[in-house]
Amino acid sequence: MMTPTTQLNKTEIVKLLSLDDFSSVYAEADEVRRKAVGDVVHLRAIIEFSNICKRQCIYCGLNRDNRQLQRFRMSPDKIVEVAAKAVAAGYRTIVLQSGEDDYFTAERLGNIVRDIKKLKVGDKLRMDEGDAPYITLSCGERNREELKSLREAGADRYLLKHETANTKLYESLHPCGTLENRLNCLKTIYDLGYETGSGFMIGLPGQTLEMIAEDLLLLKKLSCKMAGIGPFISNPKTMLARAPNGDPELARRAVAIARLLLPEANLPVTTSLSVLSGSMKNPFTGGANVIMKKVTPDEYKSAYEIYPADFARTDIEADRRNLEETIRSYGRQPL
Ligand code: SAH
Repeated sequence: MMTPTTQLNKTEIVKLLSLDDFSSVYAEADEVRRKAVGDVVHLRAIIEFSNICKRQCIYCGLNRDNRQLQRFRMSPDKIVEVAAKAVAAGYRTIVLQSGEDDYFTAERLGNIVRDIKKLKVGDKLRMDEGDAPYITLSCGERNREELKSLREAGADRYLLKHETANTKLYESLHPCGTLENRLNCLKTIYDLGYETGSGFMIGLPGQTLEMIAEDLLLLKKLSCKMAGIGPFISNPKTMLARAPNGDPELARRAVAIARLLLPEANLPVTTSLSVLSGSMKNPFTGGANVIMKKVTPDEYKSAYEIYPADFARTDIEADRRNLEETIRSYGRQPL
């Protein structure tokens, strides 16, 4: 290919996505990943602290119209306690994710962030032992003032997927918001000095390869440091109960192309991709370098049902050790 892969345009991306044999692109994405970010796989602990949500995203099980979901909200103390366990187990990043729950004002959430920031990464083997953990927030759209105060409280990164870059498709999925607001929020996140994370779903009803190419190009335009790309999974308790699931292979292809476009980015193997991929041999081939592990306590875990999935019981210490071992068995280095 003549164009440098970081400069791929829409037509070229569509062509890549529709290749019969994608193996050379996977190999190239792997090579770009190795050169740009090395063999490290970052482990992030994710705490899903509230499934209460005021929005109506029609693909998501947390949407406020889903009356079949048992709602929960973890107490601030409990959230910090779980974060402390994750940090003690070796995690250096805590991801705090929730629905859009007004109980967690910027002040309340800010206090939680400050408390987690007082923890020290404790693994003696790590060079920067004694540092505070990194905090990623994934709590939906917030106004500038709130985002600023959360940043000042110590949050390092913000993950807000744009979901789809196509205005019409976005509107059809979100009776409660606009793509413009979402993108403005992402711009504010970037301006405030957060590491910006976006991402999107693969296989949304009506989505085309051209739209996926636009999603990928938008990640670049937003100067994303992280991007979560996962297949849509139909949730029987939503309006999209009858829609087919997204194609995990297409999602993996999109991750590989994201690596070509953004060589330095942190690209997770998303949870939805793991759910649909089953026991795939090595999910970290083809560009991915991050995994988020749920540390949400069991009593809440099954109620955080964005889409249906069977998640194993949580054992923060043992889960982390197993994951590290698996990653080492792939010849990669867990961190
Ligand atoms: N409320 C927060 C966190 C959302 S949940 C926010 O708005 O950012 C995290 C992600 O789950 C969403 O960004 C979306 O990309 C993904 N998601 C939601 N429903 C899904 C579904 N049915 N299948 C796959 N992924 C889904």
